[in-house]
Amino acid sequence: MKSTTDTMFRISLIGALFAIICFTALAAGIDRAAMDMSVAPGDDFWTYANGAWVKAHPIPADRSSYGVDAILKEETSKRIVDLIQGAAQDAKPGSDARKVGDYYASFMDEGGIESKGITPLQPMFAKIAAIGDRTTLARYLGERLHADIDILNNTDLYTDNLFGLWVSPSFQDPTRYSPFLFQGGLGMPDREYYLSDADAMKKIRTAYLAHITATLTLAGIADAEARASRIMALETKIAQNHTSRSESGDVQKGNNLWARADFAAKAPGLDWNAYFAAAGLDEQGTFIVWQPGAAKGCATLVASESIEDWKDYLTFRVVDHYSAFLPKAFSDEHFAFYERTLHGTLEQRSRWKRAVDATNDALGQVVGKLYVAKYFPESAKTQLDTMVANITAAYGNRINALTWMSPETKAEAKHKLITLTVGIGYPDKWRDYSAFKVVRDDAVGNAERSEIFEYNYRRSLLGKPVDRKEWVMTPQDLDAVSLPILNALNFPAGILQPPFYDPAASDAVNYGGIGAAIGHEISHSFDDTGAQFDAEGHLRNWWTDDDLKRFKAAGEALAKQFDQYKPFPDLGVNGHQTLGENIADLAGLAVSYDAYIASLHGKEAPTVDGLTSDQQFFLAYAQSWRIYKRPEALRHFLINDGHAPAQYRTFTVRNLDPWCAAFHIKETDKLYLAPKDRVRVW
Ligand SMILES: [Zn+2]
Repeated sequence: MKSTTDTMFRISLIGALFAIICFTALAAGIDRAAMDMSVAPGDDFWTYANGAWVKAHPIPADRSSYGVDAILKEETSKRIVDLIQGAAQDAKPGSDARKVGDYYASFMDEGGIESKGITPLQPMFAKIAAIGDRTTLARYLGERLHADIDILNNTDLYTDNLFGLWVSPSFQDPTRYSPFLFQGGLGMPDREYYLSDADAMKKIRTAYLAHITATLTLAGIADAEARASRIMALETKIAQNHTSRSESGDVQKGNNLWARADFAAKAPGLDWNAYFAAAGLDEQGTFIVWQPGAAKGCATLVASESIEDWKDYLTFRVVDHYSAFLPKAFSDEHFAFYERTLHGTLEQRSRWKRAVDATNDALGQVVGKLYVAKYFPESAKTQLDTMVANITAAYGNRINALTWMSPETKAEAKHKLITLTVGIGYPDKWRDYSAFKVVRDDAVGNAERSEIFEYNYRRSLLGKPVDRKEWVMTPQDLDAVSLPILNALNFPAGILQPPFYDPAASDAVNYGGIGAAIGHEISHSFDDTGAQFDAEGHLRNWWTDDDLKRFKAAGEALAKQFDQYKPFPDLGVNGHQTLGENIADLAGLAVSYDAYIASLHGKEAPTVDGLTSDQQFFLAYAQSWRIYKRPEALRHFLINDGHAPAQYRTFTVRNLDPWCAAFHIKETDKLYLAPKDRVRVW
């Protein structure tokens, strides 16, 4: 980030020389065999870039979607399982490496898990059975509070507990951590699944009721059918009180500061003293209550619904929650509803892959440390630092050139850009796992202790100074993220692999791949969320009213563009739900293109394999979005996700003049936009 002009120039020259060597030696990193030349690029650029590959690679039975992300995940999982097994072999008892090995082994111990049956859940059942009044009910609900929400960084809004906690730098004072409380308690992903009149949703509800019945039956609980109906009825009431997904994404609507004393007055029904005492939060003076309507409504239900119904509901919640760590019959039943019905996946993934995921969830940074030591060379970090510097400089130029932004807002934007922290590969400081106890033959216990360890860690941060270099992803994650309050980005080592980044590929390909992703994440600092947080993380709109009006108008045009994409007759892309991500895609692609052109220093990059450098750039972008879903999964994604599906994200190329020129787009092409209709936000 702090490169001087001199070093940028020097490194870019080396990059250019390197690129020339690569142009002659390699096919520039574009997968020509993947392309479907029978499709006009201007009609469907995603299929043009990926169609042949998609036809030749149907979605495997154990997946609900497929493409570059799944393949990368598969390869990374293989690497990780080798690392886990290697580390466990000679690790000392109590060491981090031993914990990783034991956690993995406990998940893989199918014989042990079968022989124990449901026994590992007995202590939790006993606690539920002991609930005799509203106070013990409140206490139990408080004990189940986990730190499982992260709305602004990882956009995790789901928890199966009645409420979920997010510990984040405070909106009121971003130098300190504070607690945010979120709605939860549903088994199905969102209120829509309980309330929508669509036939597809009604079918899912029938399947869910059958799933509750089957799960209770497996757990040996009598009258499973009648209990299941009452559990469904209670969840439906919870859903009726929930705030919608798109409203939950609105930071201003979420910023509701409640003092501890406010809970009893604003959300009566739940014994909040008992709840917070059990959650270890009774010392906490204030909270942000993200969905006050849900807090109020669900607290009312705690008082109004019968204690027996709550106990049945909580029993089912516990079994469903730990199904992955229980005998095969439970995990099969869980898979049948959550994967097959909701996502269309045909077969469950191999046990070792699920064990890798579970180990990553519980001991992410330990696994990550092993991963980067073996797979992330320092040279990659250096090259990516240079790309980040070039893309940041290009973003600065775009800000300078904006005609609609006022000088005051430009100064704020540039301050934010200069102070942006970009983490490449892995965090500077590793987490301490010494307080986490792993027992080799106790899969359920390990999972539960991992949740408690995570909760206690996040809770211990409350009121303490914020670590501005904190990571919210693990190094082996195959994604990247923007942290708006910290004004920071994480690019884990996992995503810094082909097809996103390849040291052997041309610069055009790397800028079209990881470059666009870097630009995307930078742009989040300046989008509808980023515009609300200043460089220091205060929730403060740093735009003038006129700037914001024009920014919103430009965004509105993009929302309308995405509203036109309709994968199903009854369900399309929601332009507003996905707007922040679509602005980020458009800005990221445009700014990475600028940075690439600037890195050429006026020289023309040679045509490779019949492709101009501009064609390589845009094809690399489209091929980095080679991801497709089963219809069920696509439906789930359209309703729940803040991103548009991959093919529509690719279509944003239609807004860029150089794309139209590079592929000779005609007015009759489906993706053609008249120059006045091409959206440009930045
Ligand atoms: Zn994004």
